[in-house]
Amino acid sequence: MSEHEHVRVAVIGSGFGGLGAAVRLRRAGITDFVVLERADAVGGTWRDNSYPGCACDVPSHLYSFSFAPNPDWPRNFSGQPHIRAYLERVTDTFGLRPHIRFNAEVRSMRWDTDELHWEIDTAQGTLTADTVVSATGPLSDPKIPDVPGLAGFPGKVFHSARWDHDYDLRGKRVAMIGTGASAIQIVPSIQPTVEKLTLFQRTPAWVLPRMDRRITGVEQWLHAKVPATRVARRGLLWSMREMQVSAFTKRPNELGLIESIGKRQIKRAIKDPVLRAKLTPDYRIGCKRILLSSSYYPALAQPNVDLVASGLKEVRGSTLVAADGTETEVDAIVFGTGFHVTDMPIAHRITGANGATLAEEWKDGMEALRGASAAGFPNFMTIIGPNTGLGNSSMILMIESQLNYMVDFMRQLDMLGGKTALDARPSAVHAWNQQVQERMKRTVWTTGGCDSWYLDSNGRNTTAWPGTTAEFRKVTRRLDLGEYEVLRAAKGRTPVPVTAVAEAGA
Ligand code: NAP
Repeated sequence: MSEHEHVRVAVIGSGFGGLGAAVRLRRAGITDFVVLERADAVGGTWRDNSYPGCACDVPSHLYSFSFAPNPDWPRNFSGQPHIRAYLERVTDTFGLRPHIRFNAEVRSMRWDTDELHWEIDTAQGTLTADTVVSATGPLSDPKIPDVPGLAGFPGKVFHSARWDHDYDLRGKRVAMIGTGASAIQIVPSIQPTVEKLTLFQRTPAWVLPRMDRRITGVEQWLHAKVPATRVARRGLLWSMREMQVSAFTKRPNELGLIESIGKRQIKRAIKDPVLRAKLTPDYRIGCKRILLSSSYYPALAQPNVDLVASGLKEVRGSTLVAADGTETEVDAIVFGTGFHVTDMPIAHRITGANGATLAEEWKDGMEALRGASAAGFPNFMTIIGPNTGLGNSSMILMIESQLNYMVDFMRQLDMLGGKTALDARPSAVHAWNQQVQERMKRTVWTTGGCDSWYLDSNGRNTTAWPGTTAEFRKVTRRLDLGEYEVLRAAKGRTPVPVTAVAEAGA
């Protein structure tokens, strides 16, 4: 980075959110921006997760940018290598590479209240930016539980999102910890290879059949030559999922109807009634993320697989001790224990206008106006921020809504002119969150009788969006200037908040 570099916008991260932001900034005519990426390649979670069997369980024609259709998706649920290659292609097609600074992890950033800009310290040097768009994503920092004795384990240990491809699992006794979306893809992929697989299950998951199939050459040809077929396919996938939303958010009892499909999967694959009972959840389906797999239960029925229906509590040498006292000796431990979602590490590195970090501001729970703006953090937006997650549809739809909001944010700053910043009013953030939390009370995530990563340590759901993607699109189409305080820089003076919209535009 050059000395005293200043940019109009700094985007953090080059996953779907960061690359999408870069495309939309360019399309809005803004080219004075950088994308700060901590790794040496683009792709975010689809770069980091390369575990065996890694694939998206949202159909590819919906799990892609509307502005970058891909007629060539090979399967309904395409695998990680294809998704990663898609993101590399988006990077090249839209000319994003010159904007990206690789190996430039953001170490800290601070709002300068006099200059009305962000001072950013990265692993490649420092820079300042008028606006920061944080697209670090909720699934970027792996979480390994603090298990006593783990440091003394003599074998191999890794997290699902940091797979060690140099480690040969053949003939090894492997412990898989967790039964989330990652673990249920890993289990059937490594079961045929390992000598012994022991799955530590703290809570059984609801797993429905995965209707995957190859997308035929004829379909691909049609999608390439007749774009309307591609659009129709995407529209159908989208509308089917929109219709499911009210069951998740208003009538969770209706979801009970599909529990029988999950139970039938268990019954068909698992003959042992004791194992069947251990695998059958006792909470409402949808309370945790619904998982899709047709090979998970058949893998668990194989003779080289053991299920320990208890969490990992302690490690003694090469012996894993479960909470129920079961002891298992293994050569390797794979943690499929998820990510720091509600306690994002980057929040500790961002210091706002009041001198507090975002993590301090969020100590009682994450809150941001329309999933984007936290009060006291001017000209700062999060992509996939608080309460923007989905349980049943494509996050790319939510990202694109937030990108509309980002473009309008930039447009409003332009219209205000001069050295200006927008800071979400605490009252607006509060009102937005009250509304979201009120709606949350009826959702399956609250009433379903489970604990999940949707909930923070206070039991509050600060991650999921309790509505349709269409509704979120509507509420993020335009930035309401009345929800923001307009700050104007006056050299040598504290920025002047401009309260009335008319006054601000004058
Ligand atoms: P996760 O859903 O957070 O699951 C973590 C698992 O680890 C849970 O089963 C949890 O048990 C378990 N666990 C934690 N500590 C444990 C302990 N001490 N002993 C035993 N088990 C323990 O993590 P994930 O599977 O990585 O998935 C995270 C998210 O990534 C998903 O929800 C999804 O959004 C995304 N993802 C998506 C796909 C896709 O296909 N699109 C694929 C993979 C991941 P409890 O349930 O008891 O807490």
